[in-house]
Amino acid sequence: MTSVADRQARANRHIGDLEALLDSDVLVIAPRGMEYKYDRSNDRFVIGPHIVDVRDPEAALHEVCHFTQLETDRLLLRPEVSWGLVPGTEWYIAGKSGFEMHSDADVQREAQVWAYQHAVARELGWKPKVMESARLGTYFGGWCYYLKRHGIDFRQERLGFRKLAEQIEELSTTTHTFESFKRELKSRTEAFKASRQENHGN
Ligand SMILES: [Zn+2]
Repeated sequence: MTSVADRQARANRHIGDLEALLDSDVLVIAPRGMEYKYDRSNDRFVIGPHIVDVRDPEAALHEVCHFTQLETDRLLLRPEVSWGLVPGTEWYIAGKSGFEMHSDADVQREAQVWAYQHAVARELGWKPKVMESARLGTYFGGWCYYLKRHGIDFRQERLGFRKLAEQIEELSTTTHTFESFKRELKSRTEAFKASRQENHGN
């Protein structure tokens, strides 16, 4: 049985591997916290490795992959929440509000993020957890549209998870590979730094 200390040591090693890929002037992994936040005073993104009892390198990697997948112009707006992603059309009815999805765009975007995540995880020698990611599809607003796209009935949701896992595997070996991850990460990091200079020049 592995102790919390053992798991923590392994997690820290994995986080170290991930940090080696990042420019800490733009993306930094926090000692604790969830998801990410934009750190206004240092103009950089702080990735939180989602603490339960040990730091979760996969959670940190996932957020790095959101940075890498996000359109550069959206990134330059320095989004503070959910990488600036809005889940569908916003509605207000009788003092209540929410979002309504009209497509599976959120699942498609997330599939690309997961593809990067698994391509990097494979490269770093971490255990790939593609099916675990695919099962999270059900929590996305556009999931029913994803099932509809593939002609899958909601009662056979498991077929949808399998379909999504296949899609993630395929993207991670065709368009969203480790090589493209490195290229896109670098281009966004550079664009972000260049926009600082522009901001300071004004
Ligand atoms: Zn995500």
